[in-house]
Amino acid sequence: MSSQIFLNGEFVERDDAKLSVFDHGLLYGDGIFEGIRVYDGNVFKLAEHIRRLYDSAKSILLDIPYTQDEMCELVCETVRRNALTGAYIRLVVTRGPGDLGISPYICKGAQVFIIAEQLSMFPQKLYEEGITAVTAATRRNRTDALNPKIKSLNYLNNVLIKIEAQAAGANEAIVLNTEGYVVEGSGENIFIVRDNVLYTPPAYLGALEGITRATIIELAHELGYVVKEEPFTRHDVYVADEVFLTGTAAELVPVVEVDKRVVADGHPGPVTKALHQAFQQCTRHVGMKVYSKEEAIS
Ligand code: PMP
Repeated sequence: MSSQIFLNGEFVERDDAKLSVFDHGLLYGDGIFEGIRVYDGNVFKLAEHIRRLYDSAKSILLDIPYTQDEMCELVCETVRRNALTGAYIRLVVTRGPGDLGISPYICKGAQVFIIAEQLSMFPQKLYEEGITAVTAATRRNRTDALNPKIKSLNYLNNVLIKIEAQAAGANEAIVLNTEGYVVEGSGENIFIVRDNVLYTPPAYLGALEGITRATIIELAHELGYVVKEEPFTRHDVYVADEVFLTGTAAELVPVVEVDKRVVADGHPGPVTKALHQAFQQCTRHVGMKVYSKEEAIS
């Protein structure tokens, strides 16, 4: 597969996009990232993603050598160069090359790269029929140890959770915090529906403040649903009428089985479907136009 990757100020071929093995992003997970989607030539909620990236950077004392506006333009240019109208973008900023010591102060400066490729997290069939999930034994990192609001390259907690899902033969895992409250999925936020009211865990429990989550809350309000951000347990998930996950990579995916408990009748429910439809419409109308479809298809 050939693609143009933005790497430290220039566009290079996929095979030539290389970083030093001394980069602390690799040695220590010292860096940050964003996942962003493009729909019909629109970069969805680009400003929000870039703002979250710069918030993460500030939190870990990492200087990004571009302004937020410049970064937005670099993302759009990466999409244009690859002539994509639909894509998943991975924007990464690492601490940069240093030595084998942990101190970031020796590092020579942030490395920035942007990849734009096609990505579907689950097979299309599962978006229609729903996925299965298990609760992971691994708990979410405590917010006072590594705040999950920092979208850092340190994703081992999430990787371990995904491994548990697959080892159990499920598509995804639901993660709890150390107090036993439901937090989110391995890389998605979670919603449950009971008696037409939506519930999603408050971010302070240890969830990422998802941009898709915020979009779904807005759309649910527009459709007239009540949304409550409050803690809930596994039991509440088992007895929910509907369960679904949201995220830039996963988009909105229904969950129809959790720890072998079938959710309601085992099919995606009406609230999930209504929100899925609203989400699809909204992703195609909000955002930053990078080019028209006609321009992209040569
Ligand atoms: N939680 C985690 C742990 C994630 O990695 C992601 C994906 N970035 C999300 C939630 C969903 O966030 P968003 O909707 O902003 O992609």
